[in-house]
Amino acid sequence: MLVFRSDLLTGFKNKLFEIDVKDIDYFGVSLDDDILVCSFTSRVVKNGYKISGYILNNVLYNCDKCLDSFSINKKMDTELFLSNNTKVLERDNNTIYFSDREKSIDLKNILIEILLVEEPIKNLCTDTCKGLCISCGINLNNNICECN
Ligand SMILES: [Zn+2]
Ligand SMILES: [Zn+2]
Repeated sequence: MLVFRSDLLTGFKNKLFEIDVKDIDYFGVSLDDDILVCSFTSRVVKNGYKISGYILNNVLYNCDKCLDSFSINKKMDTELFLSNNTKVLERDNNTIYFSDREKSIDLKNILIEILLVEEPIKNLCTDTCKGLCISCGINLNNNICECN
C-alpha cells in the first residue's frame, strides 16, 4: 500500500484502500479474499503526518474446535504517525520513519503487523461451535454423524 507524499500534503479523508496481498508471506498469515482493506484520513501535523482510520481484521484464523478457517471481519481503529524526526521516533514506538527524500511510503507490512497483534486468545469460529466428532472426525457444525 503506497501512500504518496503529494497525497499526504493535500490530505485525504476516509479514503478506502484495498490492497492485493496474494503474494504476502508473512508468518503464514492469510487474509480473506487475499485483500487488505483499510480506510484512512490524513492530516499534516508537526514533524510529519498523522493517518487515522481503521483496518478491517479479515485475518483467517483456524477454529480451535472444528479447525475450519474463519475471519472476524471487525474494523480496528488505527492511528499511525509518519515522521522524519528521529527524536520523535525514539520516544514513540507507533511512529514510522518517513524520510524527506522519499516520495512515497509502503505501509502494507506495518498494517499486517498491526493485524497480527490482534490475534484472539481463543480461536473459535462461533461461540457455539460444535467442533469435530471425536470418533469419526466429521465437522459437527455442518454435519450429523451416527457415532452417538
Ligand atoms: Zn469452529
Ligand atoms: Zn462421528
